Amino acid sequence: MIISALKERRDGEKRVAIVPDVAKKLVNEGHQVFIESGAGDKSFFSDKTYIESGADIKSLDDIVSKTDILLVVDLPSDEILYNLKDSSNIIGLLNPYDNQNKIASLKNKSISAFSMELIPRITRAQSMDVLSSQANLSGYRAVINATSLYSKSMAMMMTAAGTVAPAKVFVMGVGVAGLQAIATAKRLGAVVSATDVRRAAAEQCESLGASFIMVDDENDAEDDSGYAKEMSNEYKEKQRQLISDHVKQQDIIICSALIPGKQAPTLLDDNAVKSMKPGSIIIDMAIERGGNCSLSKSGETVDVNGVSIVGDVSLINGISPDASNLFSKNLYAFLDILIDKETKDLVFDDEIIKDSAVTIKGQLSEKFTN
Ligand code: NAD
Repeated sequence: MIISALKERRDGEKRVAIVPDVAKKLVNEGHQVFIESGAGDKSFFSDKTYIESGADIKSLDDIVSKTDILLVVDLPSDEILYNLKDSSNIIGLLNPYDNQNKIASLKNKSISAFSMELIPRITRAQSMDVLSSQANLSGYRAVINATSLYSKSMAMMMTAAGTVAPAKVFVMGVGVAGLQAIATAKRLGAVVSATDVRRAAAEQCESLGASFIMVDDENDAEDDSGYAKEMSNEYKEKQRQLISDHVKQQDIIICSALIPGKQAPTLLDDNAVKSMKPGSIIIDMAIERGGNCSLSKSGETVDVNGVSIVGDVSLINGISPDASNLFSKNLYAFLDILIDKETKDLVFDDEIIKDSAVTIKGQLSEKFTN
């Protein structure tokens, strides 16, 4: 089987879908690994390290026309998809709901496409959970970026000349990214607090040493799959009141509240931002879905009365070697259940494979036909 990775072509994308360590494992299992020349450069994996791991460096045309399984970070261009070999396979973050037209074109060539965002969040699939691995690193990076923008100390310091107060960091939305943001801010010595709408988040925060605040409401916001539901207007008003005093005292706010399939909830309105001290930092990790802060702008850092609001859409690319490493290992774990070890045939009947399939041999999955 020929398994390949291309140079990613989306603006600002620095990750690569196969890292040299994973290339080596695939080669040891009897596969041929093709890497487009320069594919790992932006994550500091040189062509030479791929060659040392047993991979072949190839041109785009060679890869596209010969590959059996193409591993990608983002869905490639129409032209690349058009030129893929008949009956080949593509696996990555295909963003299928926004890319329905592109994906429909795969049926002409009997291509199977698997989108890592669709992997069920069950225990057995944890090693393939790209959303978690990338959110985790983004949460870390959000706090590191906030720290470098913040002009004061994160940790308390006691000196002969006096005491420097620790920074107060508030994390809004305690999913995978938020938990890592809490852990990172704690390690840097900040005083950390957090909020969420799911009760289960309270214990997780407290176990990391952060204090937790949430609206006292009889209904839990967690749905059966562990995600948050959209809250009522009444709840949102209570939440606004609850956090308004708290926000004023914060130096850094990390926003990471999301609701699957919906716009991100607005948790910081204009007044909340204006109540903060000059020099404070807001990192809006929810910006790709509209943001948690009413004043954040996608791809920009906005200054409001000395408060910097960062709408970085590509935090993950600030840590691309590690992000590529985990992403590639997630894909490797997926291949482990997709490829039969004896026959090297692809097996499509596993629940994880079925759930993540967008097309199988050109047939659009039921989730996209309704
Ligand atoms: P996510 O990115 O969808 O949301 C981030 C957080 O925002 C969530 O904690 C959510 O409750 C919170 N949120 C939503 N609306 C809010 C509001 N109005 N105010 C404050 N917070 C709000 O979530 P995620 O990081 O993907 O994780 C969701 C859940 O799934 C978590 O419980 C996580 O532990 C769980 N999970 C399980 C597995 C697994 O079992 N394999 C893997 C990953 C995540």
